[in-house]
Amino acid sequence: AIRIADVCKNYGDYQVLKNINAEVARGEVVVICGPSGSGKSTLIRTVNRLEEINSGGISFEGQNIHAPMRGSELNKLRSRIGFVFQSFNLFPHLSVVDNVSMSPIRVKGVSADVAHDKALKLLDRVGLADKANSYPGQLSGGQQQRVAIARALAMEPPVMLFDEPTSALDPEMVGEVLSVMKSLAAEGMTMLCVTHEMGFARDVADRIWFIDAGEILETAPPEDFFKNPRHPRAQRFLADLR
Ligand code: ATP
Ligand code: MG
Repeated sequence: AIRIADVCKNYGDYQVLKNINAEVARGEVVVICGPSGSGKSTLIRTVNRLEEINSGGISFEGQNIHAPMRGSELNKLRSRIGFVFQSFNLFPHLSVVDNVSMSPIRVKGVSADVAHDKALKLLDRVGLADKANSYPGQLSGGQQQRVAIARALAMEPPVMLFDEPTSALDPEMVGEVLSVMKSLAAEGMTMLCVTHEMGFARDVADRIWFIDAGEILETAPPEDFFKNPRHPRAQRFLADLR
């Protein structure tokens, strides 16, 4: 579904991504892990073009994501790649159900009634049917993050990207968000996730990408990565977690 080829990116003189080559197959769940500052967020953000790249290419279902395109085209492309941020980024002045139904109405031209019904179904799916008419400020962090996931799903994206979706949460709320992600994975969603939740990586990922200093040093199924990391820096990273 996603193909990343020879991607390089600089911030000024600093090369943050160095010749990244990697693929996410349809239905695959990939977890990106690596030390702080290694380029995980930058990499995942290039996939829906929240960040530009300096060279190389990224394609999504055959479409070149970094080709020149108009803003409207880019918005359409982005709406097919769900993105969930560490900070939930909900609209504080809109009710939960309006947060979830807004993009289908605005971007896809779905009627308000249909979008509303769909939003209620999605809220039910993430366990928040009873919060439809609440406002984000009235919800816990874990609930807000589940709304953010429902909002991304409302556009029916074939792919979902997650950048540390549980890092801003109190520990007791991490599980409820991970379990929504787990159920998405079980339904066959293609997912690219940056997370420090190694239990999730072990249980849910098909493949781990280990990135350090802007390079993917190792890609492996979790059972290999966690038991037998090959790269010394991956070994050190895992040892430091323990
Ligand atoms: P973390 O685990 O802390 O979230 P990360 O792996 O996601 O880290 P990135 O946020 O991708 O790392 O940052 C990679 C490097 O690029 C860091 O050294 C960071 O300081 C630098 N960087 C990130 N964004 C910018 C920017 N807008 N301008 C300049 N440098 C940046
Ligand atoms: Mg990051």
